[in-house]
Amino acid sequence: MLIGIDDTDSTAGMCTTFIAKELCKKLEVIGFPRLIRLNPNIPYKTRGNGAVALNVKTGNNEKIKKIVLETVEKNAIFEDDKTNPGVVFLEKRNFEDYNIYTEILRDFYEKAISELVTIGEADAAARQVNAEVHKFKSGRGIIGALAAVGADLSADVTYEIIAYRIPKNYGTERKIDPESVFEMDKKTYPKTFNNVDLNLNKILILPRGNDPVFCGIRGESPEIVSEAWKLIKPLEEIEDTLIFQTNQATDAHLKKKKISELMPFDCAIVSGRVSGEPKNIHGGHVIFKLKYYSQEIDCAAYRETANFRKIIRKLRAGDKVTAYGGIGKYWAINLEKIRVLKLKKYYEKINPVCEKCKIKMKSEGNGKGFQCKKCKKKLPEDAAVLKEINRDLKPGFYEAAPDARRHLSMPLVRMKNRC
Ligand code: ATP
Repeated sequence: MLIGIDDTDSTAGMCTTFIAKELCKKLEVIGFPRLIRLNPNIPYKTRGNGAVALNVKTGNNEKIKKIVLETVEKNAIFEDDKTNPGVVFLEKRNFEDYNIYTEILRDFYEKAISELVTIGEADAAARQVNAEVHKFKSGRGIIGALAAVGADLSADVTYEIIAYRIPKNYGTERKIDPESVFEMDKKTYPKTFNNVDLNLNKILILPRGNDPVFCGIRGESPEIVSEAWKLIKPLEEIEDTLIFQTNQATDAHLKKKKISELMPFDCAIVSGRVSGEPKNIHGGHVIFKLKYYSQEIDCAAYRETANFRKIIRKLRAGDKVTAYGGIGKYWAINLEKIRVLKLKKYYEKINPVCEKCKIKMKSEGNGKGFQCKKCKKKLPEDAAVLKEINRDLKPGFYEAAPDARRHLSMPLVRMKNRC
């Protein structure tokens, strides 16, 4: 039986993966539990828009459902307005099944990972596949819960090992030997990724907040994330660890679209030409306009993307690029990465060299031509020599700093290794 759960946590505490961990102790779970990230731009998320799915060995199904629902009821933060849990059960189903139901579920997942979907759409899809749906409060969580059981990880998959704190430590500062994390990264990167930001000298495995998660280490396989966990030194007691199979770092959310096809909160890959100079705006963000025929949209590299903004500032009108990112609160593509396809050639006019004296001629003033200082020979303005400007930028991929990276964004190192 497949079980999907979402929206149990709030900024005050809890984490839906914790409920999955509790269920793994109570039920016979087949394979890895799944941590499925969904559209990172939607406004309802608490943090990383993650939902969980489990494949549980069937037996007394009513008892299994009771355990799941009671575990959600016991742990979800119901007092928070934004917490609206949802649970779905799909009997006699495995993640790998392929039938018409799976197709409906996969389509629903594909939509929920890159667009905005409604509770009504989730209800309709659940009905079509005979899923048993349990809504708490508004029940918005059924969107994530249903998408999580429908997630298709056959094309790409990654893993995260999550370590959980003992309850006494919830809400206190997480204690770890940071050096051990850098050492772990040195030994396991790029098979592990997004765990440190070397430029900022910062470790990225510790979440902020009051939730039960101590740390999460992301990597390519269950083996490498367990090895990485053994290499780091937590300085507090750890209750449990659990490895999740995930869609993180796979770019599964990004779909090729034209500017005119974009809708609010979409995640997309959009190609066009830069129109106009990038601008620095209040708050340290950089924006430029991307144009495809008559369609135009702003692309933004936020302050948090750090050095990525330096690249964006180097773009010039006419450059051909592909933007990877999503529409957030404002009507603009929040850039996760960019591919510079072709740089427009720009030229500067430089003074000509006097043929006789072999020295650079002097400008006589704007539009007034040139004169040789030595032989006094004059040349008209159009004798100026055109020199291509060094753009200090090369075609290729550029990405936001690890600290600002979306869970779903594929790091360039993964892209390279998968080619
Ligand atoms: P955490 O990462 O700590 O688990 P979260 O960021 O996952 O928290 P949730 O508390 O799960 O946030 O809230 C996200 C809510 O948005 C859920 O109710 C989920 O069902 C819903 N949701 C997920 N994807 C979409 C989508 N594409 N469109 C509309 N709603 C969505």
